[in-house]
Amino acid sequence: MTIAVIGSNMVDLITYIDRMPKEGETLEAPNFEMGCGGKGANQAVAAAKLGSQVMMLTKVGDDIFGDGTISNLKSYGIDTSFVEKVPGTSSGVAPIFVDSSSKNSILIVKGANQKLSSNDIEQASDQLKKCSLIVLQLEIPLETVYDAIQFGNVHNIPVILNPAPAVKNLNFELIRHVDYFMPNESELEILTGFPVQTAEQASKAAKLLIDQGMKNVIVTLGHSGSLWVTESHTKHIPAYSVQAVDTTGAGDSFIGCFAHYLNEQKDVVDALKMATAFAALSVTRKGTQASYPSADELKEFIK
Ligand code: ATP
Repeated sequence: MTIAVIGSNMVDLITYIDRMPKEGETLEAPNFEMGCGGKGANQAVAAAKLGSQVMMLTKVGDDIFGDGTISNLKSYGIDTSFVEKVPGTSSGVAPIFVDSSSKNSILIVKGANQKLSSNDIEQASDQLKKCSLIVLQLEIPLETVYDAIQFGNVHNIPVILNPAPAVKNLNFELIRHVDYFMPNESELEILTGFPVQTAEQASKAAKLLIDQGMKNVIVTLGHSGSLWVTESHTKHIPAYSVQAVDTTGAGDSFIGCFAHYLNEQKDVVDALKMATAFAALSVTRKGTQASYPSADELKEFIK
């Protein structure tokens, strides 16, 4: 019943600033924080916090960030046997600058994440074959994502693909074989070329993907909830009305929680309802992984 997350990890390096320095200027900044992130790691942590057995396939650099990432994953009970350190490469990092009005500027350095290859899937294949769900995003090389989808298909393991960050030139022939395709509004818009500003437009754009052979498209719509679209129906799951303080990582929390309940109970609507509650709780708290509730907090919230 193990979930395999084949994806990225990043260390967020958040500097709180009064303003950005000008060229050649050195400026004192009031505060600095570090946090573990990366879409793959976030989704793995969300599922693990709810009690799933999770193994993660990812790569880190041979630097202090790599060590920190591995111990962070281990602290949630995630199997890191296939988390490899790449000599001479930096870990994935995201230097983030947040000003006093909470506006942010973000750089992404993928580092070792770019070295996760099909060869790594091959090397982990004995363990991967025993998994009951594969979860993918797009912060690793596309070829690796395509091979992971094929691996799932060949071994009859359901595959969730969260196509984030958005990529225009996805090979649709390969990705249409995933079992659950889970974009947000802007990712769906970029992929289909159709506007996705409303639930109705999201439903139409998702239908285009269904017409081309996709089985399940689940679109997340921020505070408007989510839509589950199949050939036979469109179902809207409304979001909870909460006081949002930080929506960073809401999408990852939703997908990690959905993966946990889908893997456990196999019921899509139930899993979507739980994911909606889990993500709602996460937006009421600051941080990414730190904002994800425990299984007990989630149960208390939906009482
Ligand atoms: P991010 O990139 O910030 O991680 P995302 O764009 O991938 O997020 P969203 O669609 O914003 O993902 O959010 C995922 C889910 O989280 C939504 O479907 C909804 O259930 C929940 N959610 C997001 N924002 C809110 C909010 N303000 N209030 C309640 N629930 C929310």
